[in-house]
Amino acid sequence: MAQHQFQTEVSQLLHLIIHSLYSNKEIFLRELVSNASDALDKLKYLTVAEDAYKSISFEPRVDISFYKEGSDAKTGTLTIADNGIGMNEADLVESLGTIARSGTKAFLEKLSADAKRDSNLIGQFGVGFYSAFMVADKIEVISRKAGEEAAWKWVSEGQASYDIEPAARDSQGTTVILHLNEEGLEYANRWSIEDIIKRYSNHVAFPIYLTYDEKEYDDKGKEKSSKTKTDRINSGTAIWRRSKSELKEEDYKEFYKQLGHDMDDPLFYVHTRAEGTQEYATLFYIPAKAPFDMYYADYKPGVKLYVKRVFITDDDKELMPAWLRFVRGVIDSEDLPLNVSREILQQNKILLSIKNASVKKLLAEFKTLSENNKEKWETFIGQYNRPLKEGLYQDYANREALQDLVRFKSSSAEGWTSFSEYVSRMKADQKHIYYITGGDEKTLKASPLLEAYTAKGIEVLVMADEIDDIVISSLHSYRKETPGADGKSEAQTWELKAVNRSGADEELGEKKDKAAEKEIKPVIEKIKKALGEKVKDVKLSRRLHDSPSCIVADENDPTMQMAQMMKAMGQ
Ligand code: ADP
Ligand code: MG
Repeated sequence: MAQHQFQTEVSQLLHLIIHSLYSNKEIFLRELVSNASDALDKLKYLTVAEDAYKSISFEPRVDISFYKEGSDAKTGTLTIADNGIGMNEADLVESLGTIARSGTKAFLEKLSADAKRDSNLIGQFGVGFYSAFMVADKIEVISRKAGEEAAWKWVSEGQASYDIEPAARDSQGTTVILHLNEEGLEYANRWSIEDIIKRYSNHVAFPIYLTYDEKEYDDKGKEKSSKTKTDRINSGTAIWRRSKSELKEEDYKEFYKQLGHDMDDPLFYVHTRAEGTQEYATLFYIPAKAPFDMYYADYKPGVKLYVKRVFITDDDKELMPAWLRFVRGVIDSEDLPLNVSREILQQNKILLSIKNASVKKLLAEFKTLSENNKEKWETFIGQYNRPLKEGLYQDYANREALQDLVRFKSSSAEGWTSFSEYVSRMKADQKHIYYITGGDEKTLKASPLLEAYTAKGIEVLVMADEIDDIVISSLHSYRKETPGADGKSEAQTWELKAVNRSGADEELGEKKDKAAEKEIKPVIEKIKKALGEKVKDVKLSRRLHDSPSCIVADENDPTMQMAQMMKAMGQ
């Protein structure tokens, strides 16, 4: 038997799990079943794609059983077994002793700071296995890797260390035995297991069986007979392959909770089944709350790729454009080859066309939402305005659609405003779209730079998000098509002008006020001398109303925020 120390981060995580996670303990079962399902997916893929594994006879399944009877606290067990890919000694050390992801430190900080102690984060971050220590004070994992003879047992009490020793197992797969703690005992019964599986894992694509004892009692309440029974407890079909008319709202929601490791319902979903030149199904979900790692460089992508219902990969960042990284879901193609490799995936034409169609479909759904459901749209923009703005910068092909989805605050309108709404409110003689950047919403709205515009009744977009500079730098102007009376559409274009840059004040008054310029000249000379190298130029401006002076950027220079952001991006 060999004793191993957990990586420090794992010890810290376990400490948090055991001592401070109270909410939603039941998610441990979802996490263990999801691991079993992943293991079955991996082996299924190998048996169809690689010769060495084709001889393995394999009916994928998950088996759950429990033991409670006659037990005082701490002797009950709950067992989850699968006949999937399995783990050898090295896999056990790597998978159940370390966390390799680089966001781990930030994750642990977030978890310890979170007042709600949200156990949901655990699954999202991909450390779901350890959540079982919420309900167990000892865990045994007996595993045998497909294609290998030896089996291994991993045991830990969730403290600083774990042991690994040789073990026996008839065939490939993994058995996880939870030695339930006092609170965990409530899960050692048929009804709670069925209930939790139905709620979170009903749509796991493999059958999940529950083994239990059915007892009969005589009229004196004495046990007459006891039969061991095994029932299948999930419905387990690839939900995305079924027709929409067969599926209920609840089916979609259940599947999402398991797929997205989320307790909450999704904001909305989009289910597509394409037939014809290409056959595929996609099911996408928009989480009600942005995934917590949305702004981490090593975010976990949320879309899984299947080929003919065989799982291929879930960590390919190319399946969706980066700006859609908050989307959760499934792409299942009938036309891709099963042994498609990662490298090939990236340039595969079939996949590329599914991806493009999916992005278009999502954009269309976002647009519909913005027009038809004010409440959901507000939630959506509150969470995803920023990635959409990244899209404007990164996704040239979808710029038209994206420019109508992004939202800003405004100097005169309440709430969020789109470019389209802005131009529809514009006065007939206004030539440009005006905006202000360089601070938070409150500061910008109070800026003296707005005075003259407000006095003239010109609305200014308040671009308070630091990413807004990216919108400007990639757009420069806004183009809108309006359907004309004769069926032809007309396009109109407005330039975007910053009020905190020179050259944006031409609409504010007479272009050449010779007398005023002459009068002010000595003052300007004096200010120039006093400020010297610190400024590029000092000019007479028409943009102020009550305040005497303001600092603006040159029309052609990056703004201060932009300069800082470029620096952060290493440019
Ligand atoms: P995640 O599933 O997000 O990777 P987990 O903490 O749930 O994170 O699991 C950690 C790793 O342990 C998995 O990635 C997998 O390699 C391994 N593992 C866990 N359970 C099983 C299982 N039943 N069969 C095979 N491997 C497993
Ligand atoms: Mg997992």
